[in-house]
Amino acid sequence: MNLINICNITKIYHTKSKEIKALDNISIAIEDNKIISIVGPSGCGKSTLLNIITGSEQPSTGTIRENRKLNIGYMMQTDALLPWLTVFENACLGLDLKKIKTKESINYVNDLLKKYGLYEFKDEYPNNLSGGMRQRLALIRVLAIRPNILLLDEPFSKLDCETRKNISNDVYKIIKELNITPILITHDIEEAISLSDNIILLTKRPGRIKAIYKLNFDETILPSTRKKDEIFDTLYDDIWRNIDHD
Ligand code: ADP
Ligand code: MG
Repeated sequence: MNLINICNITKIYHTKSKEIKALDNISIAIEDNKIISIVGPSGCGKSTLLNIITGSEQPSTGTIRENRKLNIGYMMQTDALLPWLTVFENACLGLDLKKIKTKESINYVNDLLKKYGLYEFKDEYPNNLSGGMRQRLALIRVLAIRPNILLLDEPFSKLDCETRKNISNDVYKIIKELNITPILITHDIEEAISLSDNIILLTKRPGRIKAIYKLNFDETILPSTRKKDEIFDTLYDDIWRNIDHD
């Protein structure tokens, strides 16, 4: 089943001096529990598309059809942890904002912290954590609200290579374990192939769909191991050739 149908979305921003067409006639079926990546050059409208899904931007034409009620978790490029709150308090922030902090939800946060190796750092401050740990904490904070859709806007782009590989494996395991549908935005082709079930390639602005790739890796293969599969290089070359380079 499809969680969302994105139907013929076009977005034009009107500024004082000009009109900027950011997206042109985008249609995508977001399938339940499939990891979908949206790849395209900088400025092609990727973040705009996420903002239209969350409802913080309105499309100029087209519709977003939600086939179930969405509970959206949104993870941005910066981890946005608050330095004056402890790890535990940061993890509970989403629950506080949504006013859904209950005994049950606090137990769930503690479970997540235990599961993802942060429980013993619960009373520390984020500045004492490594980059990878901070990113895991940011993810736990999003997961605490039990989202059914997870929007990831280049969440790993600020991390070093090694940390990225580990966090990709972690995120992959978490996503496959929980009943969640992620949309990952990235301009890193390797990351997209490592993590995704489907990849949507957008053209340069205004973003149009240039190609759709359906990947068929076995679910038990972790992102870091996908590279050993011969299909990986073929896909990489194909996407690299197809992507608009600025
Ligand atoms: P991406 O995330 O792919 O880098 P964006 O969705 O952020 O691209 O932006 C797409 C285009 O729309 C860019 O040219 C950007 O400058 C423009 N844009 C984004 N937000 C606004 C806005 N609020 N007002 C005017 N133009 C915008
Ligand atoms: Mg962006």
